[in-house]
Amino acid sequence: MASKLLDPGLDSPSATEVDEKWMWAALLLAEEAAAAGEVPVGCVLVSGGEVIGQGRNSPIELLDPTAHAEMMALRQGALALGNYRLEDATLYCTLEPCVMCAGALVAARVRRLVFGARDLRFGGVRSKFQVADSPLLNHRVEVTEGVLGVEATILLQRFFASRRDSETRSQRDNGS
Ligand SMILES: [Zn+2]
Repeated sequence: MASKLLDPGLDSPSATEVDEKWMWAALLLAEEAAAAGEVPVGCVLVSGGEVIGQGRNSPIELLDPTAHAEMMALRQGALALGNYRLEDATLYCTLEPCVMCAGALVAARVRRLVFGARDLRFGGVRSKFQVADSPLLNHRVEVTEGVLGVEATILLQRFFASRRDSETRSQRDNGS
């Protein structure tokens, strides 16, 4: 069940209004992903109080296993700044980044990561690994979690539930 694969982070300290404002923008992108049949994850990358990059999960559509929301946002942000280092940037992501994306945050030297729900299966920041602020690496990203985690969890659970329903329906229609 999806409910056991996610943790909305209700025990986390309350978020600031600014964090919530950007996280709502990330949630809208996650909804776009769901509408396109992708797992609903969305991100915005903010620097100097402005969005410099954004992304939604799109590996199916782009036939690209690296096309996670975070990677899309980092690529856009680096182009916008003309710099592959994003030292003043904060990435807002509806779901805890995977190991690949957490590694990219470190490589880009992103200052801060704010995420919503924990991904208990694949999370590379808290749940399975702690890549973003590991003392073993040369850069540590400041991590805040649980911002609109409930909203992100509901969106993901709804997506997986409707996908299960349509799989059941198509099995029935195929007579299996
Ligand atoms: Zn990822």
